[in-house]
Amino acid sequence: MAAEERHDYVVVGAGTSGITLAYLLHKYGMDVVVLEAGEDRDHDPNIHDLKSFHGLESHYRNEYFWPENGRPNPRLPADGNHYSGGRLWGGSSSINEAWYWRGSQFIYDRWGGLFAHEAFCTDVFRKLETFHGVSQSPNARGDRGPFAITQGSAYPVGEKFIAALHSVLKDDYGLEVPVVDDMHTVNGPAMSVKAQHFVDLSDKKRVSTSVSLLKKKGCTLAIKSQATALKVLFEGKKAVGVRYLHSGETKTIHANKKVIVCAGLRSAFLLMHSGIGDETLRQYGIPMTHVNPEVGRHLTNHLLLLTKLKVPVADNKDIAEAVHFKGLTAVSAFPDPKRRDLSDIDFELTILSPAPGEALLACFFVNPESRGQVSVCSGDPLHPVVVDTNYLSAAEDTAKLERALEVVEKVTDRLAATHEGYQRVSDLSDKKSYVRNNAVHVHHWTGTCQIGKVLDEHLDVLGVEHLMVADTSSIPEIVRGHTYAPALLIAAAAFVELTGISNWDF
Ligand SMILES: Cc1cc2nc3c(=O)[nH]c(=O)nc-3n(C[C@H](O)[C@H](O)[C@H](O)COP(=O)(O)OP(=O)(O)OC[C@H]3O[C@@H](n4cnc5c(N)ncnc54)[C@H](O)[C@@H]3O)c2cc1C
Repeated sequence: MAAEERHDYVVVGAGTSGITLAYLLHKYGMDVVVLEAGEDRDHDPNIHDLKSFHGLESHYRNEYFWPENGRPNPRLPADGNHYSGGRLWGGSSSINEAWYWRGSQFIYDRWGGLFAHEAFCTDVFRKLETFHGVSQSPNARGDRGPFAITQGSAYPVGEKFIAALHSVLKDDYGLEVPVVDDMHTVNGPAMSVKAQHFVDLSDKKRVSTSVSLLKKKGCTLAIKSQATALKVLFEGKKAVGVRYLHSGETKTIHANKKVIVCAGLRSAFLLMHSGIGDETLRQYGIPMTHVNPEVGRHLTNHLLLLTKLKVPVADNKDIAEAVHFKGLTAVSAFPDPKRRDLSDIDFELTILSPAPGEALLACFFVNPESRGQVSVCSGDPLHPVVVDTNYLSAAEDTAKLERALEVVEKVTDRLAATHEGYQRVSDLSDKKSYVRNNAVHVHHWTGTCQIGKVLDEHLDVLGVEHLMVADTSSIPEIVRGHTYAPALLIAAAAFVELTGISNWDF
């Protein structure tokens, strides 16, 4: 291969995991370069406007998002058919809704490797954050990391909702779920009236990996923008570099030590275009490097069901601000999926509010059994990824969501019975139809290059050498919460795997 440029590590994707990993490698003196298909958009006010976090995708899809192709799902409403991540510095951390969710150790234990060490995971989360809030376990929270995590304050609708949920779980399901200040230091079921977000209220900015690591830390890491990786290059089974498109020109870059793919939803796609996947790739003219039919399979994602209720304006007067992250307030609960008897209510319940007299109660379905797939449909690596979520293909998933709606009914009935002005608006009498007409996807794409099937527990790609995948596609069992913080954990684990440095910091 005639390499034009040579580095020890070539990272594909300056996203959530990619920037974090490359930042650490660079900080500790390694020779690393990052290829990113998007560019630096941190100067754009849209990205940081706290009021537009929820609407960013619908308003700025072409500017900041990858245009992927979703296969229509007959079990879901058509408008739920958006499949994408961020294409810019910071990747999805620059355009997401900024909810902070650590994930529970009992899930990380099942990922194996470094993740199975609670001390490692807690240490990473503590190192990365500066926590602004109150915790019942203050020692588990960080106070000098580059990522500001801001906790909201309590407000009447949230407190009444939590009280109603707590009593319904206890009276009707026999569950005593603790109400705590800080859900993210509890390894099991908990609920709280105070949500937490990746937001820095001091400068009113989202806390993306680009803002927090590259800009605030004044980092000099080399990132090639508008550089889209087309293919990992091999000598035999050894990855030696990347072919990429840069300003209309095809170039190559050589990796002395490793190519590290951190392309999110597109990681499996890049592996397939590099000949790692099932034999059908040959039909698109892609020469095989290593046959592994598991690449791109096992796509796992959460689902969201929103229900509406009327609430007194007086109880909710601050919430319009709250959902715009000024007050950062919401409530959640996540019963423990370790216990079979809880599996029917394995949900996060969140209050959001579109208007002072309304609230949206969300069932966040965090433990689906349905599995989808990402695939290629041509030999062109610039083509959109084909995404088949296959949502609700497992009958038990619909049944679980129907049971979640029963919880919603009981909670909203209890609120209406105990507090004046509370009333459910959504008609939940036909739960099957409600699920089918209202379930929408979230953007927690995981599993398509997962540990155990595509990667070993050190995140190295099975069957080849010098190739690693370190991002959310490596997740073998989805977290019962959001995936930004876990993406940072994965990057930190990859750094330790690559360098052996355990006494590191940001
Ligand atoms: C709209 C939205 C809202 C979300 N809300 C939340 C939330 O509130 N809380 C939460 O915890 N999580 C949220 N998530 C999920 C979370 O942000 C992601 O799971 C996480 O950021 C993914 O990290 P990653 O490193 O795997 O991928 P990404 O951050 O998506 O990074 C992938 C990077 O690779 C680049 N890339 C891809 N292919 C190539 C290529 N061929 N060549 C060069 N570069 C390439 C991309 O442009 C991108 O920069 C949200 C996601 C989205 C999209």
